[in-house]
Amino acid sequence: MSVTEKVNLLQFNRAALESFFVVNGEKPFRARQLMQWIHQRGVTDFDRMTDMSKNLRAFLNEHCCVQHPRILDQQLSADGTRKWLLGVDESDNAIECVLIPEKSRMTLCVSSQVGCTLNCSFCSTAKQGFNRNLSVAEIVAQLHLAHHSLLAEGHPTGVTNVVMMGMGEPLLNFDAVIAAIDLMFDDFAYSLSKRRVTISTAGVVPAMEKLDQVTDVALAVSLHAPNDRLRNQLVPLNRKYPIRELLRACRAYVDGYRSRKITFEYVMLDGMNDSLGHARELVELIGGIPCKLNLIPFNPYPDALYRCSDQATIDRFREYTLSKGIVTVTRRPRGDDIDAACGQLAGDFHDRSRRSARYQLSLQQIKGANVAQR
Ligand code: SAH
Repeated sequence: MSVTEKVNLLQFNRAALESFFVVNGEKPFRARQLMQWIHQRGVTDFDRMTDMSKNLRAFLNEHCCVQHPRILDQQLSADGTRKWLLGVDESDNAIECVLIPEKSRMTLCVSSQVGCTLNCSFCSTAKQGFNRNLSVAEIVAQLHLAHHSLLAEGHPTGVTNVVMMGMGEPLLNFDAVIAAIDLMFDDFAYSLSKRRVTISTAGVVPAMEKLDQVTDVALAVSLHAPNDRLRNQLVPLNRKYPIRELLRACRAYVDGYRSRKITFEYVMLDGMNDSLGHARELVELIGGIPCKLNLIPFNPYPDALYRCSDQATIDRFREYTLSKGIVTVTRRPRGDDIDAACGQLAGDFHDRSRRSARYQLSLQQIKGANVAQR
């Protein structure tokens, strides 16, 4: 049996691993032991799992594996941010995941899809189109890899926070993301506390409503605009789920939980959404919701259609929202020298949506028109 035909144990949350064991004639508590070996100690060689019976180790060797995506490249930024380029298929699909060291935490930014279907007009992943959802194993493997790389280097804690803010829209790969998050929270796996795992969404309203029923994760919402006209342009998903519905889902998510807050993300785009008028509109919209506001300076990439607002404009926006009682932070761009900042993640993959080809074509047309005008 080749490795790829074996069952990759990274795909199982606790419930799934227990039933896999029971179906194969083992006791469920063995599943919990195995999870500790794999996720907590980072041991992937079954022969080293000395508290398992010889029979069980033989079974695992024969039928199971712990398989990561191939590391195609690893880059280190001047500010300590690390980026991994991971090959997820025999073919040429690659995704990225980013580790961001801060004073008291180690945050991992995890991808949920190969590409993205949403086509936000300012995001570089969007320009590349979409190939497929990541599997549970491929999502969990990003954390396993980063966490155990850190521990092997002698880092005291490993990964302390996870943000689902890499490539893709996590709520459009709902079941796999939830199973992966189960493992992040599980005491036999990564044991992260509930406030330390964040899903970021462009606003898939029905999935936001479902989220509350299945897990207790922190929620970030990519708002980026204070009215539907502008948001339709920046986040086309808004045409399906407009701001009013989105904010209703946000309120429902925090209602009845004192510790829950929505993080609203707002990318600062020069001359688009960054005026004091926009700030006023924004405060009116989100003022009543327990929330905080993250201003994200736009991170440029080749051929981007936007520029970042200047610092004075960002500061003015922030001072206004702060003065109206909204906790507001400006996110520092991290890892921008290695293209690891928000919206710069762009592993190479085969685009099945053909959007990247259309984008290249429209760029050529824009450039052609510019040349003709001169
Ligand atoms: N699909 C999810 C996760 C996407 S990435 C979502 O939309 O929330 C995480 C954040 O980075 C989102 O808020 C996204 O809008 C933002 N982002 C995308 N491109 C960016 C860029 N070029 N500069 C700054 N932020 C960007």
